[in-house]
This record gives sequence, C-alpha cells and structure tokens, in this order.
Amino acid sequence: MALTKLDQLYRAVILDHSKHPRKQGVLDKATAQIELKNPTCGDVIQVQLAIEDNMIKDVRFDGSGCTISMSSASMMTEAILGKSIDEALMLADEFSGVVQGKEAVHQKELGDAMMLSGVSKFPARIKCATLSWKALEKALETDGTGVDGQLKHD
Ligand code: ZN
Repeated sequence: MALTKLDQLYRAVILDHSKHPRKQGVLDKATAQIELKNPTCGDVIQVQLAIEDNMIKDVRFDGSGCTISMSSASMMTEAILGKSIDEALMLADEFSGVVQGKEAVHQKELGDAMMLSGVSKFPARIKCATLSWKALEKALETDGTGVDGQLKHD
C-alpha cells in the first residue's frame, strides 16, 4: 500500500509537493469554491478559483489528508493556473485517466501531476489522487454562481 514501489524520482516529487504545497491557502476574491471529501481515506480538500474571462487567473487549495491527496492538489494548482476553463476540464479528465493507467496526451501540461501515474497500481488510492481534481471540476461547474454556489459532497 505504501509508495515504496514507486520510482524514486516520482516519490521525491510527490513528497516535495506534500511538504511544500504550491498555492495552499485562501483566495480573497474567489469566484468559485468547493469542498470535497474522500471518506475512505479521510481526505478533505477545499479548492478556490478566481475566474475571469473564462480563464483561471488564480487558484488556492486547502485541507488535510494523506500525502497523495495533498501533493495531487498542489500539482493540480500548478497545472491549471492560467488555463482556460475548457483546458482545465480537459486536464482533469486526462489526469483521471492517468491514475487509472491510461496514456495522457497532454503530459507536459499535466506537469508534476504525471508523477502520480504510479497510483494506478494502488486502486484504493485513486480517489486520494483525484479528489482535488474532482473538486476543480465541481468548482468550474459552479462558475458564475460565485462563492454562494458552494457545494458539499461526500
Ligand atoms: Zn488519501
């Protein structure tokens, strides 16, 4: 169940994101935000987006959970910052495939998130890896409804 079977490089990048999360915190001017939980592991993630002209101008995440869920959230923020809503949704879809062992077309755009491809060998952890990306998808669905559009999913 542990990451010990993952390639050393993958492991180092994952741990780095976990220890030094990018874009962790709170956005003052979020246009969309959502909290999602992964009850099987106890992960909780909040994702906040500042969307302007169909582009993700800024992003933050916060929450608590296992190394995979936290590092994945950090990787997600790096991958989607500055992207259009459509691009971000496409990357979320591709990432969901990557952690299930599928090839990704946009590996460069996914960036460090590709390092989580090894999660496909640990099916119980797939939900940990996809939690922040699911939150992103949900937050994008609420675009325009503002912070009041916050949803909670179990
Ligand atoms: Zn987890």
